[in-house]
Amino acid sequence: ITGEFKKALPVLKKIQAAGFEAYFVGGSVRDALLEKPVNDVDIATSAFPQEIKKLFKKTVDVGIEHGTVMVLMEGESYEVTTFRTESTYQDFRRPDSVTFVRSLKEDLKRRDLTINAFAMNEMGEIKDFFGGEQDLYDKVIRAVGKAEERFHEDALRMMRAVRFAAQLGFDLEADTFYAIVVNAHLLKNIATERIRIEFVKMAMGKHLMQGMTGFIESNLYKYCPGLAQAEENLEQFAKIEKPINKERHVWVLLLYYLRIQNEKEARAFLKHWKLSNQLIKESTELHQLFLHRLLYDHTNATVYRYKKDLALDSETLLEQIGKTGDKNAVEQIDKNLPIHSRDELAINGKIILEEAERPGGKWLGLALEAAEKAVVTGELANDTTEILAYLKDKHYIS
Ligand code: ATP
Ligand code: MG
Repeated sequence: ITGEFKKALPVLKKIQAAGFEAYFVGGSVRDALLEKPVNDVDIATSAFPQEIKKLFKKTVDVGIEHGTVMVLMEGESYEVTTFRTESTYQDFRRPDSVTFVRSLKEDLKRRDLTINAFAMNEMGEIKDFFGGEQDLYDKVIRAVGKAEERFHEDALRMMRAVRFAAQLGFDLEADTFYAIVVNAHLLKNIATERIRIEFVKMAMGKHLMQGMTGFIESNLYKYCPGLAQAEENLEQFAKIEKPINKERHVWVLLLYYLRIQNEKEARAFLKHWKLSNQLIKESTELHQLFLHRLLYDHTNATVYRYKKDLALDSETLLEQIGKTGDKNAVEQIDKNLPIHSRDELAINGKIILEEAERPGGKWLGLALEAAEKAVVTGELANDTTEILAYLKDKHYIS
């Protein structure tokens, strides 16, 4: 027991001292067995939520109806969830109700994949009821129990299967794969927000091709927003070799391979995927810059308008589609930009009005824009007197 688990050990021990069972479960155990960095350590226990709340000084009810209590200890937080089964699934999505149980095995049985259905005790011993260790060794994604039934209970699990294939570089076990082929259409019942999380994790996986192959061959893609007709486009996307490391890059690259160029169309596509307004804004801006960059080099104007961050991203994207990016050029241009935003301009509306012998109006905004543009391109020095002279010369003021 090391690292994050060691820090969480007191939580486990305290629950056990009160006479209950407690184990580390879920993704953290899988990642530890894969010798990958472990982030969130989740704990499963035979104690009921109220019993957990009595045991610890600081807790937060994060999902008490599902049996989850967050325990705060020494600046860390741990989700402690009561062993549970999920009964009566309707509509192929989350269960209507959960039933708390006192058996670890029952809890692990309702988990999605064998590699996610481990538990680890305080000694670091692994409880593996469904052959997960063998599947980790064989690099196989396999549903716990009968794949078909499990996907009927919650169709999102099919997306999770291809997502883990992409993250880990595993293959879908045959029965699991066929169950996805047969049930892919059930994805229609799942909220786009939940599909999107798994889709993005898949797209950002280190083994994109492996995940995308499952996603495409199983027909899952047909039930994702705007992708029903996109098999060939997705095959191109799957060939991206450098791992994608920002969500907005996923969306821009997808738009690119979908051959969407129009900004409105791009926005509509992202809206279908239920992206936040902020992410839609960033992604469509980057998309437009990227399309521009396919044809032209960066200039003062592009780096000023889109900012260094986005300009650097456009270079990353070029590399991701197999072209050459030039991050150095962006750095150089940014370093030499006379100004980086309008507040750095040596003039403002007030100064212009004082100088002008005309009332404010639409012309003022245009004057500022003209000055800004001339300063950014280096045509005009960022100096109040020179800018005023320039505006006189251009007849904005007399
Ligand atoms: P990540 O590293 O991406 O967080 P994870 O395996 O921890 O991966 P979570 O979504 O955090 O994934 O879920 C935690 C655990 O809960 C999983 O390991 C799995 O055991 C279980 N789980 C999550 N989603 C489902 C689901 N839809 N059906 C069944 N079990 C699930
Ligand atoms: Mg997790």
